[in-house]
Amino acid sequence: MEASRIELACVKSGLKMTEQRRTIARVLSDANDHPDVEEVHRRANAIDSRISVATVYRTVRLFAEEDILERHDFGDGRARYEEATEDHHDHLIDVKSGQVIEFHNEEIEALQVMIAKAHGMKLVGHRLELYCVVEDDADH
Ligand SMILES: [Zn+2]
Repeated sequence: MEASRIELACVKSGLKMTEQRRTIARVLSDANDHPDVEEVHRRANAIDSRISVATVYRTVRLFAEEDILERHDFGDGRARYEEATEDHHDHLIDVKSGQVIEFHNEEIEALQVMIAKAHGMKLVGHRLELYCVVEDDADH
């Protein structure tokens, strides 16, 4: 089987790749959402039932330390992971359903640079999470 994107990033970072790590890397490469450790474990386990939740926990932490994964906290106390990419995006979280929407807004990006600058600083990164509920039309 061809190496997944995350597996290639691991090799580039000099990480030793075991079969289980490769499986976890593939699950994360295939994910289009922001799974927590339990969800990654569920998906990895469907491929290889020997993979323990402790192994998943250690592996995602290792990948995050190497900046291969991005770790998020969406306010429910569970760490969530996604592949780190060049394309920056922010997150809007529906606090009722837990649905996460990715967005990118040039005005917000520019505003953040300006705010840093106003404090004599150069922006080197940011995190933005919007916590939302679906608007109830009955209220209007
Ligand atoms: Zn995301």
